Amino acid sequence: MSVSVSTAPKSNSDWKKLASALHLEGRHFIDGHFVHAQGNSAFPTVNPANQNILTQVARGQSADVNAAVQAARAAFEKGSWSRMAPRARMALMLRWANLIEQHSDDFALLDTLDMGKPISEMLNVDIPLGLLCLRFTAECIDKLSGRVGSTAHHVLSYVLHQPLGVVACIVPWNYPFLMTLWKIAPALAAGNSVVLKPAEQSPLSAPLLARLFVEAGGPPGVLNVVQGLGEECGQALALHMDVDKIAFTGSGEVGKLMQIYAGQSNMKKVTTECGGKSPHVVMADVKDLELAATWAAMGVFGNQGEVCCAGSRLIVERGIEKDFIEALRRKANELHRPGDPLDPATQMGPLVSREHQQRVLGYIDIARAEGAHCELGGQAPQGLEAGAYVSPTIFSQVNNSMRVAQEEIFGPVACVMVAEDFEDALRMANHSRFGLAAGIWTRDVDKALRFARDAACGMVYVNSYMDGDMQMPFGGWKESGNGRDKCMEAIVSYTQSKGVWITL
Ligand code: NAD
Repeated sequence: MSVSVSTAPKSNSDWKKLASALHLEGRHFIDGHFVHAQGNSAFPTVNPANQNILTQVARGQSADVNAAVQAARAAFEKGSWSRMAPRARMALMLRWANLIEQHSDDFALLDTLDMGKPISEMLNVDIPLGLLCLRFTAECIDKLSGRVGSTAHHVLSYVLHQPLGVVACIVPWNYPFLMTLWKIAPALAAGNSVVLKPAEQSPLSAPLLARLFVEAGGPPGVLNVVQGLGEECGQALALHMDVDKIAFTGSGEVGKLMQIYAGQSNMKKVTTECGGKSPHVVMADVKDLELAATWAAMGVFGNQGEVCCAGSRLIVERGIEKDFIEALRRKANELHRPGDPLDPATQMGPLVSREHQQRVLGYIDIARAEGAHCELGGQAPQGLEAGAYVSPTIFSQVNNSMRVAQEEIFGPVACVMVAEDFEDALRMANHSRFGLAAGIWTRDVDKALRFARDAACGMVYVNSYMDGDMQMPFGGWKESGNGRDKCMEAIVSYTQSKGVWITL
């Protein structure tokens, strides 16, 4: 990876000391100020590594959402952000990125304590990629342009891209910092005001992002945060008559609700980034099986398997399945051992909550009941009972119609299936209601290109997995949603076009 954040190396005990002194902010951020929920309603947020309550968080309802949307609308109408000169907006966003980078340790701790991911992953993945998104997006601001139509001699016609107004960004818990920036950076870059609703499992990094936006010079009311439960605060926001767009990342079930809410209210625009069950194919002609197994392990066990584009359906050509499973088991043991997420050596933390741990363990029971064979893991690891851990788990003898091959588990569970040949692998890969990502390992350029052409999904990786940069759109087909994050296209999705026809 070509990006990194500069922070002095620290030991487990250094991080623990910093964690105990960390300020945990659970209030809403509305119109430039931290405020309690109306009626002081609150809910606890819990550290999944030990089940301790970290702090109380505002439990927003309609009244809080109304206040945030009103502040966002007023800021938009005032124009101090929406009509700011593009390069001034760019400079402000770059200042904001610098401030965020200076607080890298705080962000790393906030998400690690709140949702359990290893601190090293925050420092090496989430924070650098979030900053990259913010800086790339800022740099795009004065590269956006409309177009002039080629119309009759007596006409001048052109198309403008204008901001939408108030955008609701509703985000999940698996990459709280990163997924939030993937949404709010392009929404703000396009000149909109934002009301952000973090997931209730991971509410703590969003308030600091919003505070730093104002410290960087961002006008109050342009970036607001409302905290709360999905079915209360999230629903009130998505149904709000004065919100112009919902930018949603989360489960397919809730993504579908977003489309219903838009229809039940003001037909606001909706973009959805939802779940997946992505196929990762290894052909027998793979050049380096060890390397493929390393990426396969990272693709399904990285971030505890709580990754939308996890390559959780491993489709292996007949003949190499034994060697592949052996290599995958080795890589899982070497590279994805569960431990204390504040220890910089830890590569896998607990899952986000006890409830989610039980859900994933439930799928492991289903896999056994369906006749799959457990090659590794299949339980909560011993010695870590205080946390919501699940060991890296590999199932063989899976067939594509089993529930564990078709439903998103969102945990460290790999299903290995055997394909007879390339055509069989492609057919199996596409047999899914999801269509987020797909990967293939092969030395045969014809198979690689045909797979890239025919895989029914938004992102294809050949001889790597989950790779990419800011140029490439991130998003899915089918029930994986319709939105695109990153890339220039994402910024345009936070604008609306206007055709202007001038008769001369
Ligand atoms: P979720 O759908 O339960 O929640 C996502 C957000 O929606 C949260 O902020 C939640 O509070 C809110 N919400 C829940 N119910 C709501 C309702 N009725 N009305 C309004 N808002 C509501 O998802 P999650 O469990 O937080 O995240 C995991 C899911 O996110 C997985 O399915 C994963 O694949 C998906 N995801 C997708 C991408 C992508 O880019 N495609 C990226 C990350 C995660």
